[in-house]
Amino acid sequence: MKTYKVDNDGFYGSFGGTYVPEILYKTVEDLKNQYESIIESEDFLNEYYQLLRDYVGRPSPLYFAKRMSAKYGCQLYLKREDLNHTGAHKINNAIGQILLARKMGKKRIIAETGAGQHGVATATVCALMNMPCRVYMGALDVQRQHINVERMKMLGAEVFPVESGNKTLKDATNEAIRDWCCHPADTFYIIGSTVGPHPYPEMVARLQSVISQEIKFQLKEKIGRDYPDYLMACVGGGSNAAGTIYHYLDDERVKIVLGEAGGMGMDTNQTAASLNIGTVGILHGSRIKVMQTEDGQIIEPYSISAGLDYPGTGPMHCNLYETGRATVLAITDKEALQSAFELTRLEGIIPALESSHALALLPKMKFKKDDVVVLTVSGRGDKDLETYLSHKEEINYDEI
Ligand SMILES: *Cc1c(COP(=O)(O)O)cnc(C)c1O
Repeated sequence: MKTYKVDNDGFYGSFGGTYVPEILYKTVEDLKNQYESIIESEDFLNEYYQLLRDYVGRPSPLYFAKRMSAKYGCQLYLKREDLNHTGAHKINNAIGQILLARKMGKKRIIAETGAGQHGVATATVCALMNMPCRVYMGALDVQRQHINVERMKMLGAEVFPVESGNKTLKDATNEAIRDWCCHPADTFYIIGSTVGPHPYPEMVARLQSVISQEIKFQLKEKIGRDYPDYLMACVGGGSNAAGTIYHYLDDERVKIVLGEAGGMGMDTNQTAASLNIGTVGILHGSRIKVMQTEDGQIIEPYSISAGLDYPGTGPMHCNLYETGRATVLAITDKEALQSAFELTRLEGIIPALESSHALALLPKMKFKKDDVVVLTVSGRGDKDLETYLSHKEEINYDEI
């Protein structure tokens, strides 16, 4: 049977692998050799599930969206990751990785962050576990995401502004990798998405797979069968989508439709649609589709949504795209904004701008009335309120 899971060398088809500097070889090798047995151990699982339940608030609800279902002619269920502690799915992964770091005897945590959501999740679990934490963040993002910077500091983390390159996520990631190279023995690098060298993409996907694990039993309870006809999510690096589809990857009854950031449109140079327009390259330790010039210079991505503003996508999704297992559509800023206001008015849920890229897939679909659709709302929109307010005149309220 064809499988879309990772192979022993960390490849999904031709994507993935471990492209790291020599000095990190042993650290990454140790992680690869230890992580599976640790995250499958009873000890780890007890602590992980207890924190997911009592601290994060899981299982997150699977909510039947009645008015949206009527509008789009399907049975639409929303997987409510927006209701998690800290406001998004990122905490699932951060909790898993810090438990792993502790079990591996690491003393210090580093992380990279773009908009600050992963930085806040990491700073949160470091406060919880009493571990020192340094978060690398592009200097431009430090300015743009001031509130998240203050949150991280209040939680006790040190926020390190990165002045190199375009001073955004890619540059923060480079700097975090540099730090890791200098302290490979005592430092654990908590990566926030299904990107980076193997085993990170697979490890993050597994720590997020609690999402599809819950979808299975919640659907069974609600509709009597444990699979939907469609799964939908947004993709930046790919972690909330990976969690949503993980237990259905090889179940071809389930169609997968993903929304990536089209920005101002794929025909402009203001986009982050790396699956649709990227070419194969190596970025941050992994062979993936990247937005780059012909001579391999990274093209600065653009999206209204900071969480999707990354020039590549993780290897699992590159393979799903290339094999046709997943349909990946580019959603423009304008489409995402419209969908955010629509969900707000029809269901009383203000979604994160990232999640709005998944919602904006709905008007592009042709459903049958009985089709069961599960769409992951990856986070809540509090952090995006200023952006929403500054664009509210552009919304077409008659369409809602
Ligand atoms: C970070 C973020 C994303 C994008 O990251 P993925 O790894 O692709 O999930 C999506 N939604 C929210 C709310 C985020 O914070």
